[in-house]
Amino acid sequence: MILRDQDMRNRAITVIIIIAIFLLAFFRMNTRFDRLSRYPYQDKRARELINEYLDDDAVNYIIEYAIEPNYFIDLIEAPGFNIYHVEYYRTLEREITYLTKNEIVAFAEETLTYENGQETAMSLLSAYSANEILFWMRNGDPYYPQAELVDVPDSLAVVLNDQNTIANRIPLGLVDISEAGFEEGIQVRTEMVNDLTHMCDLLGSVYGGSCGGMNIENGYVSYNDLEKAYQAGETAAAPGHNEHQTGLAIDVSFNDVGGSSEDKTAWLLENIEQFGFIRRVYANEPYIHLRYCGKANIDRVKKG
Ligand SMILES: [Zn+2]
Repeated sequence: MILRDQDMRNRAITVIIIIAIFLLAFFRMNTRFDRLSRYPYQDKRARELINEYLDDDAVNYIIEYAIEPNYFIDLIEAPGFNIYHVEYYRTLEREITYLTKNEIVAFAEETLTYENGQETAMSLLSAYSANEILFWMRNGDPYYPQAELVDVPDSLAVVLNDQNTIANRIPLGLVDISEAGFEEGIQVRTEMVNDLTHMCDLLGSVYGGSCGGMNIENGYVSYNDLEKAYQAGETAAAPGHNEHQTGLAIDVSFNDVGGSSEDKTAWLLENIEQFGFIRRVYANEPYIHLRYCGKANIDRVKKG
């Protein structure tokens, strides 16, 4: 009997030891389990980053679709990074070369929070900057909520009215008005300079002096400055809807040297179209508002 008891005890101890060894092995195996064991592409650095930034689902995703580190690893540390949006990031990166990696990810993630955000962003990228697109998505049009964003804001033929806006667009190709022989300090679009110079040459030949005594009072005005002017009642055309924001509008006045300002104004209004300008009346603006669109676009822009 004594021997049998001892035998039983030995067996029990053996079983306990076996169980203990099994548990220990299981525990260690678990802590050392390598979730990237089926992901053959990583070097040490990629491995560390993947383990730090990707959860198990994301790791399974890159394994299942064989997505290699060089496709996403340079973006993985950007705040808001989402492995499922990498294709969008890469597309944006090709289109918007002026943004940093962090900015690409931030832009993508914010646009994705809006309805049809990705499609909208992609369709606007060729004409608007990333900041302008986000401005439009965030704010819409505070003045005419039904207004649509124009597709080609920098076009000479762009028509702005209550239905069409360029949001807070800053046009490309602004140059100083000194390019057309005026005193510097006002910006206009470079496309206007030749025709404006020719118009001034003719004005000068008719009335004498520099540009026949025509002064340019305003040219390009930014969205923010137009907002102030609009609030102050200095122009009736709201920001985003005001031609001054395109750089294609100038406000002009005449002195009375060599002829009365009335005569010069009448001459101007009769002759502007041959130089690609039309007159537009913006209520509350004290000067003669001229819009440049180029001769070919006159009929179209006049109607707008
Ligand atoms: Zn004006």
